[in-house]
Amino acid sequence: MGVAKRLDSPDCRGFDLGQAVAEAGRCLLCHEAPCSKACPAQTDPGAFIRKLRFRNLTGAARTIKKNNVLGGACGILCPTARLCEKECSATGIDRPIRIGRLQRFLVEHAWKTGFNPLEKPETRRKEKVAVVGSGPAGLACAAHLARLGFPVTVFEARPEPGGVLRYGVPEFRLPKEFLQRELDDIRALGVVFRCGSPVRGKGAAEALLKKGFKAVFLAPGLWAPMRLNSRKAAGVFSSVDFLAAQREGRKGPLENALRGKPCAVIGGGSVAIDCARSALRLGASDVYLLYRRSFAQMPAEEDERLEALQEGVHFLVLNQPVEYLCDPKGALTGIRLRKTRLGRPDGSGRRKPEEVPGTDWTLEVRAVIEAIGNKAPEGSSQAYPSVAVRPDGLIRAGEKDGRTSKAGIYAGGDIVRGPDLVVRAVSDGKAAAKAIAAQLGVRA
Ligand SMILES: Cc1cc2nc3c(=O)[nH]c(=O)nc-3n(C[C@H](O)[C@H](O)[C@H](O)COP(=O)(O)OP(=O)(O)OC[C@H]3O[C@@H](n4cnc5c(N)ncnc54)[C@H](O)[C@@H]3O)c2cc1C
Ligand code: SF4
Repeated sequence: MGVAKRLDSPDCRGFDLGQAVAEAGRCLLCHEAPCSKACPAQTDPGAFIRKLRFRNLTGAARTIKKNNVLGGACGILCPTARLCEKECSATGIDRPIRIGRLQRFLVEHAWKTGFNPLEKPETRRKEKVAVVGSGPAGLACAAHLARLGFPVTVFEARPEPGGVLRYGVPEFRLPKEFLQRELDDIRALGVVFRCGSPVRGKGAAEALLKKGFKAVFLAPGLWAPMRLNSRKAAGVFSSVDFLAAQREGRKGPLENALRGKPCAVIGGGSVAIDCARSALRLGASDVYLLYRRSFAQMPAEEDERLEALQEGVHFLVLNQPVEYLCDPKGALTGIRLRKTRLGRPDGSGRRKPEEVPGTDWTLEVRAVIEAIGNKAPEGSSQAYPSVAVRPDGLIRAGEKDGRTSKAGIYAGGDIVRGPDLVVRAVSDGKAAAKAIAAQLGVRA
């Protein structure tokens, strides 16, 4: 079965009304719903499923968006199996309620009926707030402050807003139109986006305070790819460039590099899986996912790994890349790999991969995508010299309020946590918005 055919399977679409109501009908309407307690952004599934069950669809959509401005995207992207659905009481009787799909359905239903569940502010305040970065953390902070009546300007380095949702997560998982609808809801609150406006250079964030913004929320994410220490070869991409090029419609050079050719993706996380599945869609003849630990140890979610397997990605686990091999013109011809085996547990409690001497072998590939992690770009902290950062470039900020070492500057999302989840970035944006409002004398 081809990739396109599989994408038509019902699991890739949301529920329709009948399915949603039937699914909500299975909910036990738990008192102090465990699912609600398990949502990092307090989206409150217990409350919105109860409303759906009693056919209050607008009320249900309002609950979602009031609590989580990216409730639609989270309905698609959240690893619900290890968050809300993991705690669902219905599991003891049957399978858990499919909370993510209900959430997605309710948000899409509101759009279809022309209803914007985000209520506009009743009061207009004068204290301006700046948000740096328009990923999930920045969007959540901006929307929550705008709903309290604060004028918010979001400064975004790239041409369009959305962060990883626009330039990372592939279109086949989060359609562009879907993201656009989420952004339209936020724009309707009066949030101003200044795209193509990076906040960079010495003290650029502090300068915003001097320009009259009463508070600044830093949410620039992590956009510098970590790279393998091997020789340079034509045909080797970073996951950041590879995924962004596709979302920006610059597929031509990627198709030339991949179509009809064997390709490898290095890494075992969700990003590596996105790259592997994208490479298949770009026409690679074979896609090998290379990971130095075991299948069970891969950080990617189980359903993502299974989908990749079903689509035809070959998993080469317990293999470590040693070096790229090139032809005389510098074009990639293969990767020298070394087998690994699992040794004793390391500091993280996982059994550590150890190289097995004398097991080198060559995998012939014409393209490689390195998906081994992202970090803060070199020198990016110069933009906020009075804010304390860790040696790895992550910002030190309060877990519950995003406060940094500089009064008036807050931070959240991946730049504080390291690579994490959309829903946790939303939670950080909300927490910082609450703290900023309190700083400005408003109880949120
Ligand atoms: C390929 C991929 C797939 C993922 N899939 C999932 C998933 O399925 N589910 C899930 O929960 N999580 C997923 N994640 C993780 C999730 O997307 C991130 O945790 C989340 O986006 C972090 O949000 P953020 O707002 O901190 O940063 P980002 O989303 O990175 O947004 C930061 C924004 O700041 C902008 N910026 C950077 N520097 C500046 C500057 N100096 N001035 C102005 N703007 C700046 C950037 O251009 C960007 O738009 C995925 C991540 C990747 C990379
Ligand atoms: S835990 Fe499950 S059964 Fe209980 S309210 Fe939440 S969705 Fe319904």
